[in-house]
Amino acid sequence: MKPSRRLLTVAGAIAVAMAAAAYWWPGRAQADLARITGQNVLLITIDTLRADALSVYGGPAHTPALDRLATEGVRFDFAHAQSVLTLTSHATILTGQYPFQHGLRDNSGYRLARDARTAATLFKKAGYVTGAFVSAFPLDSRFGLNAGFDLYDDHFGGAVATSEFSMSERPASVVVPLAEKWIAGATTPWFSWVHVFDPHAPYRPPPPFDTEYAGKPYYGEVAATDAALAPLLDQLRRSDRPTLVVVTGDHGEGLGEHGEDAHGIFAYESTLRIPLIIAELGGGSSPASSLSRLFGARRGGELSSIGARHIDILPTMLDAVGQSVPSDLPGRTLLPREERVGGAPTRIAYFEAMSGMLNHGWAPLSGVLVGRDKLIDLPILERYDLATDATERQNLAGRSPTEDGALQATLKGLSPTWPGQRASEDAESVGRLRGLGYVSGQAPVKTKYTDADDPKRLIELDQSIHRALDAVSAGRLVEAEDIYRQVIDRRPDMAIAYRHLALIEWQAGNADAAIAVLRRGLAKGVTDVRAVAQLGEYLSDSGHVAEGIGVLEPLGRNPAADADTLNVLGIALARARRNDEAQRVFERLRELLPGSSAPLENLGVLALDRGDARGAKTLFERAIAVDHGSSRAYAGLGAASMQAGDRSAAYAAWSKAVELDPTNFDALFNLGTSLAREGRMDTARPYLEQFRRTAPPGPYAGQLREVTRLLQTGR
Ligand SMILES: [Zn+2]
Repeated sequence: MKPSRRLLTVAGAIAVAMAAAAYWWPGRAQADLARITGQNVLLITIDTLRADALSVYGGPAHTPALDRLATEGVRFDFAHAQSVLTLTSHATILTGQYPFQHGLRDNSGYRLARDARTAATLFKKAGYVTGAFVSAFPLDSRFGLNAGFDLYDDHFGGAVATSEFSMSERPASVVVPLAEKWIAGATTPWFSWVHVFDPHAPYRPPPPFDTEYAGKPYYGEVAATDAALAPLLDQLRRSDRPTLVVVTGDHGEGLGEHGEDAHGIFAYESTLRIPLIIAELGGGSSPASSLSRLFGARRGGELSSIGARHIDILPTMLDAVGQSVPSDLPGRTLLPREERVGGAPTRIAYFEAMSGMLNHGWAPLSGVLVGRDKLIDLPILERYDLATDATERQNLAGRSPTEDGALQATLKGLSPTWPGQRASEDAESVGRLRGLGYVSGQAPVKTKYTDADDPKRLIELDQSIHRALDAVSAGRLVEAEDIYRQVIDRRPDMAIAYRHLALIEWQAGNADAAIAVLRRGLAKGVTDVRAVAQLGEYLSDSGHVAEGIGVLEPLGRNPAADADTLNVLGIALARARRNDEAQRVFERLRELLPGSSAPLENLGVLALDRGDARGAKTLFERAIAVDHGSSRAYAGLGAASMQAGDRSAAYAAWSKAVELDPTNFDALFNLGTSLAREGRMDTARPYLEQFRRTAPPGPYAGQLREVTRLLQTGR
């Protein structure tokens, strides 16, 4: 759309808003949220935010910015997520669909359909510019939530996850200013989604919140997040254009309740109930907000106790800007006041927690909330009356078969389905794996789960995994290994225990032991595709390239194979000099990760390998355009420049690579040795000495000998 046309749209929008406000003037209910055609929309999701953490919800975290927002709009004190996982919940919020409809049932192994309809695609279609600013790896663009966003800023580092033990994230204090800047530059109506991750474990609040919240660091993180968001909200208040602001959490945090420290296994209120605040800010000259100021309509804010849901957010946002709400969405707008008061039609809330099933082989958890009645459908059934038992202490299931049955029928009526096999494990792959002897004969997903599979009976295994992770990060590896072995004894098909145990062995340099651990897991019935990919990676990285490819290729044949698997497969194929096949795999990866420089870098390496210096140069330059901070891309650009005979360009690129990452030993080696061979020993010496001092002797033994010789002989 041409800019001039957009301006026309805005002007038209304001005219419509004025007309609507004038029409609503006499009958306008107190604290109503106004429908303002073409107003801006800001969606803020705060990761891992319990509803009862914020001070306005009576919580221990002092959150003046969000408290104030609540006084300017509507606060929902009985709002619920449909899932307890980051990616699943965000997919629900953005698509307005239940997890069994959008299909993202866990934080990995799934990708949103390419043609999915989301808030961003709908706003874009309506002429909005769209920008997302996300803070952590579960929302990496590879999972597809970037659909419809003009800008999807997910630069939190680590484009390809290398370790289960670390998670890429960046703080709200970094992310929020990016959104402020983008919003300030927008000249047309905009939709922005800002995701902040700080309250997620580990809880390490920055000063002064670290000391203010000593002993309760989770709440310190919440308070710090609130402080980081304040300038953005103030910016919108000052703006002369109105903005609908929606703030929610993707899920809560167990904090030890029901034996759950974090989130993901259960769906108790500690992790399922989330805050939800909706307000309209700014538009100083707009009729709607001057109206509310005139009558003080929003002073004190409105409190709604209806059962609001994540699936209601998209219809509300669309309704608020005057867009029609697709009729096939399960949620309903919260905009009209009559929807937010007692007596409004009940909103039935489906919810699920599939992490235990998908990661541990436990029973899948789903359930339903009808009013204050909550049913958790597990082999050991649970029913709670949240009106009298908000923390779910008293399981009422079995006391009234009629009431149990009615809720079960309601749940069934929503036609939810359990997740199938993860995408990467289609029947063909499973069959081929079995042919290779990697999967036992049992069905990978059970058709029936018993009391023994109920997460209530297994939660201590999950706690053990968390204890082991803590031990790893504290460097107590023997203790961690012991815990993982105990977990395996108790539940021999728990993939995560084998995967972490193998990673510890691998990082300690015990490649054979790491491979043996994974083989043992697969023999014991582990079917997790990531365990299989990990085995393929270790085989390939430890010199058994052909065998590694044999493991990885069946996974790669799946059209829905995940990025990590493809990356590992591509590298293995390149190692085996099967460059054409590697090329095809990296091309796929490039499509899957348009925002990542890694696939372009790998394609650049292949181009270098076939002597195509120009092609390689172009690819590395594109990689740099995608990620200015990629040391690997500069290292490759240096090699391509050198191959093309442009020495000064090569030196400049390698210097930049080393500056960005002093542990880029390949760039350091190339820089030092090339300069030395050219007779520029004085310039070369510091680089060579740095290499000799810091390069690990294992993988760089030959290069270290060469560098030592150069330093001694001077040429
Ligand atoms: Zn989350």
